Amino acid sequence: AKASGRSRWSFFSSSMQEQVLAKDKLSRELRHAIDNDLLDVAYQPQISHDGRQVTSLEALARWRHPEMGAISPVRFIPLAEETGLINDLGMWILRRACRDADQWPHLTIAVNVSPSQFKHPRFVEQVLETLETFSIPPQRLEIEVTESVFASDEHAILTAMKRLKDLGVKIALDDFGSGYSSLSYLRKFPFDTLKIDRCFLTAFDDGAEARAIVKTIIALGKALGMEIVGEGVETIEQLDFLLENGCDRIQGYFIAVPLTRPRLKEFLVVHAED
Ligand code: C2E
Ligand code: CA
Ligand code: CA
Ligand code: CA
Repeated sequence: AKASGRSRWSFFSSSMQEQVLAKDKLSRELRHAIDNDLLDVAYQPQISHDGRQVTSLEALARWRHPEMGAISPVRFIPLAEETGLINDLGMWILRRACRDADQWPHLTIAVNVSPSQFKHPRFVEQVLETLETFSIPPQRLEIEVTESVFASDEHAILTAMKRLKDLGVKIALDDFGSGYSSLSYLRKFPFDTLKIDRCFLTAFDDGAEARAIVKTIIALGKALGMEIVGEGVETIEQLDFLLENGCDRIQGYFIAVPLTRPRLKEFLVVHAED
């Protein structure tokens, strides 16, 4: 029993060690990808409530690993946050999005920003420098934050947000309703846009509750002067419901998946002809 106990212990121990090593390797490879422009950005269109116009693009990070293939941001973004790479990764995405934005002068570009980026003392300056470098008016940038931004250092984040907003940058609250947000944050923080969490649309077909929640979020956001984005829209029923209830912008596979630049170009041509 003793022997098997020991071997079990060493089994777990070596597998944990392997995990640590694998993680270490992956984070070094991510570092390398950031430094050598090996990441990419996909753009998911958002359309206006009348369905006629593409208004915005959400920039989404993509990483094609040389051996493992595409790795989801759901995996590498938390890894970047854990290993301190998120500031550099976030700035890489922002720069790339601003560089690309030149091709679509009439569209707003939405970029996801992690809480730790917001806490970086030079974050606001870095955003401004990037906008200037690529001659992007601040009004064309929308920064998306999730409710996790409220978890710490409220004062620093609020200060940074207000500075960005004063300069014209738009701020969106992403995944609204998914986390531990309190409604008081909607008053305290200067959000321009509210993105309804996808889970309410996923639950949409199950019955009246999810619909009631979606309806209420739209009404609440509008009453507070915010624009509402419905994301994760996959069906015509979801689309119709959102539009009937006054949702301002629609994003989801029903409209388009996140697209590479050539695919986006095609999409914009086709969409302009409708
Ligand atoms: P998110 O910000 O909520 O982005 C929307 C995610 O939903 C994207 O997943 C998008 O591909 C997916 N999606 C869009 N429409 C639909 C739909 O109709 N149905 C379904 N089931 N999914 C849809 P993606 O690209 O895998 O990104 C996952 C998450 O990773 C993002 O969620 C965001 O939290 C994070 N992320 C991605 N890029 C960045 C980045 O550059 N910086 C930071 N900080 N986070 C990022
Ligand atoms: Ca987002
Ligand atoms: Ca979201
Ligand atoms: Ca999310």
